[in-house]
Amino acid sequence: MMKTVITNAEVEGRFVSVAVEDGAIVEIAEDVVTLGADVVDAAGGALIAGLHDHHVHLLAMAARREGIDLDPLGTPLAFDDALRAASANSEAGWLRASGYDEHRHGILDCRRLDELVGKKPLRVQHRSGLAWVLSTTGIDLLLSGELPEGVEVDSDGNPTGWLLRLDDWIADRIAPTAPSLRGVGAELASFGITGVTDATPNLGQGRLELLRSAANDRSLPQRLVLLGVDDPAAVADFARVGPVKIVIDEVTGLDPDALAHVISAHHFKGRAVAIHAVSRAETVTAVTALALAGPHPGDRIEHGSVLPDDLDAILASGAVTVVIQPGLVGERGDHYLSSVDRVDLPFLHRAASLQSTGIAVAIGSDAPVTSADPWVTIATATTRRTRSGNIIGESERVDARTALGWYLSDPLDPGGSPRRVMCGSAADLCLLDAPLDEVLAAPDAAHVRMTWVGGRLVHS
Ligand SMILES: [Zn+2]
Repeated sequence: MMKTVITNAEVEGRFVSVAVEDGAIVEIAEDVVTLGADVVDAAGGALIAGLHDHHVHLLAMAARREGIDLDPLGTPLAFDDALRAASANSEAGWLRASGYDEHRHGILDCRRLDELVGKKPLRVQHRSGLAWVLSTTGIDLLLSGELPEGVEVDSDGNPTGWLLRLDDWIADRIAPTAPSLRGVGAELASFGITGVTDATPNLGQGRLELLRSAANDRSLPQRLVLLGVDDPAAVADFARVGPVKIVIDEVTGLDPDALAHVISAHHFKGRAVAIHAVSRAETVTAVTALALAGPHPGDRIEHGSVLPDDLDAILASGAVTVVIQPGLVGERGDHYLSSVDRVDLPFLHRAASLQSTGIAVAIGSDAPVTSADPWVTIATATTRRTRSGNIIGESERVDARTALGWYLSDPLDPGGSPRRVMCGSAADLCLLDAPLDEVLAAPDAAHVRMTWVGGRLVHS
């Protein structure tokens, strides 16, 4: 492979040249021979290790790019306009929208959707990803007489349009589209992201094939870690496998003993676990079950949105990593202030207090639930400011360097020490257009100039 020399780059406070060959950093010095090499003049900009987002959902990100994205819309009126316009421009087949938020878009049922799209089949995904609302034609097409548990009905027994936790059931009935991951890969690269962990449970053969082909043709150039895979050997040609994803859900019932058995079974097979736990009851259950099962390297809690501090000692002693999402404070914070139980507010999306208690912390966007832009997330971690300017958990602020560090831990060691730009390490690199202190003073993706994965330029 071609040799690349990045000259005049700020690396950990020094101005140096960095030579890259065969996918790795081969030399870092004040002077590096550039003869025959591709030369990139960093002009004093910082060169850092590429960022790794430890919790995303790639195919959901791709699907959202192709459907109607409701997330940016701030009012019920804007919601109505967007769906009416999409309906007018569509031909046959399903209309699909995602990012519906009742607090900004108003109450929803099939009747409101019918007024917007008439007889077209439409499905609208709630921003949590756990529920869909369908137009009447959509209901008729999908249910065709069936009434599985999870279909909400009114007092007369008629479906309201709401389908709760029926994703797999829906996927079996609507021919899956094959969303393109190219746009997702390019967007992530433009943020300086060189790797992601896909946290979708039970990926299954169809979704794995989509990921495999995107990885192989490099439309998705990032390094991949997958949680929803049983057999690491089955994906070894394009991805590595992390802990097994386990979803627990207060609504369907919580049982710490049963969960501990499931965890132990995975530990016995040599796999760590990554437990999705959001509410107080879920985090208490998850941590209790982890304590019952005993520690295993690599165990993680995903989200830990409400994490009471009396769990800290167990998390710290069990070396359990918490994969946090400071981005939610910005995007959902105003809603939390009106809806979250007062007693839970001090434990909401903790960050600084986890770190200071000695708990390993890593960071994930949970995109498409929140924006995948790490620079917005880093900024929110420093301010704890919501969209409308409220502050949540001021004492949970961290400095931007700490938040960036959470993006730099090894893909298979979330919460470990930040990867560094050094000789012998893989050339997964992010070049910024200014020194690091300057960028971190006002974090913004616009500062990302170039991104390399394994020495291959993926964004410029
Ligand atoms: Zn998730």
